[in-house]
Amino acid sequence: MKKIKASDEIIQEARNIVDGLYFPLQGFLNEDDLRSILENMRLKSGQVWSMPVVFDISENEAQELKNENSIIITNKKDEFFVKDISIFKWDREFFVKNLYGTLDGAHPGVERAMKMKKFLLSGKVEKIRNSEKPGVFHLTSEQAKDIFKKNGWANVVAFQTRNPPHRSHEHLQKTALAEVDGILINPVIGSKKSGDFRDKHIIGAYQKLIKHHYEPGKAVLGTLHTFMRYAGPREAVFHALVRRNLGCTHMIIGRDHAGVGDYYGTYDAQKIFDNFTEDELGIRILRYENVTYCQGCGDMSEDGSCDHSQDQKIHLSGTKLREKLNNNEEIPEEFMRKEVIEYLKDNKDDLFV
Ligand SMILES: [Zn+2]
Repeated sequence: MKKIKASDEIIQEARNIVDGLYFPLQGFLNEDDLRSILENMRLKSGQVWSMPVVFDISENEAQELKNENSIIITNKKDEFFVKDISIFKWDREFFVKNLYGTLDGAHPGVERAMKMKKFLLSGKVEKIRNSEKPGVFHLTSEQAKDIFKKNGWANVVAFQTRNPPHRSHEHLQKTALAEVDGILINPVIGSKKSGDFRDKHIIGAYQKLIKHHYEPGKAVLGTLHTFMRYAGPREAVFHALVRRNLGCTHMIIGRDHAGVGDYYGTYDAQKIFDNFTEDELGIRILRYENVTYCQGCGDMSEDGSCDHSQDQKIHLSGTKLREKLNNNEEIPEEFMRKEVIEYLKDNKDDLFV
C-alpha cells in the first residue's frame, strides 16, 4: 500500500476523526459532501455538519495515487489508513466564499485556504499507529465522558476559548453553571494567528482561575486539539458539534464566537443556530449577550441592561491588554482576576504566538 506524508495538522485531524470527535464524519470529505456542507451546512444525508474536514494533496501526489484504493498517511510517528479514496480538484473560490463569506486575503482563514494544495483526497480514516498518549488536559471523547460520569454530572456545559479568562468569561461560565452540573472549559490547542496567546499560557491562566475561583468539583479543564479556522458562525456550529461528541449537553455561545476582525456580526454565531433544531444538533445552545463590569452598577452588567455610560464599563481590547502586560501596567481586577493577571505578568516575555 502506498504511504504518503501528511502534516502533523492533518494527522491530528485523522486522530479526531477516529476518536469520534467529528461524528458523523468518518473520514476526509468527498466532493459531494463537501459541496453540500459549503452550501447548507449539512452532509448529503441531511445530517448537520458545518466545517470542511479535508486533506489537500499536490498534483504530483494526485497523479501518483490515482489508481489506489486505500493509502497510508503518516507524519513518521503515526499512521492512519485512508480507505476507498477518491481524489478531486476543488473549487477554491466557492470553498472560501461559502466558508468565510469573504475572499479577503487578510482574513487568516482565507489566507490559509489560499495556500492549500490543488487536489483533495477523501476516504474513510482508520487508525494503524497513534503514538500520542493523551495528556493531563488532552481528553479523548471516551476520557471526557468517563470524567463526567465519575463526577456524577448528567448535564455538562462546554466553554470554548482561545484566551486567558476575563471576568466576563467567568461570569458567562458561572451563569451557565447554574443550569447544569458541571463545566468543561475546553481551549482549542493548535496553530493560531500571530498575536494570539500561546496554548500553554491559556491553560496556565485557567488553572489559576479554577483553583482560586471555582467550587471544587464543578469545572474540568480539557483541551481540544485542532487548528482555529476563524470562520465565526460556521465554526460556532462546528465547535458545538464537537463538544456534543465529547459528551457535553450544553454549549455557551457568546458574542463574536470564533470570529476575527469585523467579518461577522456580533451575534451571527448565535443566529446561525436558528437553522437547526435542538434534536438535530444534539446539544443545547446557551446564548449570552456581552457582559462587562459596570462601575455604575458595581457589578457585571449585560449590554443594554443599564443606563450607565460606556466610560463606566471596564473593558480592555485584546490590543490594550497585550500592551498593559508588556509594559507591566496595572490591569483592573474588575476586568481580570488578580491571580490570572499575576500569572500572565510572570510569563510576559513568552505569552504570544
Ligand atoms: Zn450599569
